[in-house]
Amino acid sequence: MENWIKKAHKIAEEARERAYAPYSHFKVGAALVTTTDDIYAGCNVENASYGGTTCAERNAVFHMISKNGVQPLKGLVLVTDPLAVPCGLCLQVLSEFAGHDFDIHMFDLNGNHKHKKLMDFLPNRFNPDSLPKKV
Ligand code: ZN
Repeated sequence: MENWIKKAHKIAEEARERAYAPYSHFKVGAALVTTTDDIYAGCNVENASYGGTTCAERNAVFHMISKNGVQPLKGLVLVTDPLAVPCGLCLQVLSEFAGHDFDIHMFDLNGNHKHKKLMDFLPNRFNPDSLPKKV
């Protein structure tokens, strides 16, 4: 396994421990990795309103932007138990900043691993290129 995945996996596991998930009890940790191997962690943060909940993946994106702005992205490592894929809303947010071949690595706590590309989930994605061009 490539080094950046191992490093991001550890950071995602640690972020998962900090998740605030008193309602679903489904803790999620994410680590967003740039092309220069900077890593931004995120965990899910639930809310009593339920609608105020934000996923780990989106929090990792927001972490990157709030710290260093938009950076070129390589991949995302996600740690859940059981193993899960990103939700549609997070895939949409990721597609704003990530290319078709953006790697998504999903792990559970037993080390089971699944790898997909963003294009596997959203082959016909809506992103900034979908909008009309300004003249
Ligand atoms: Zn999500």
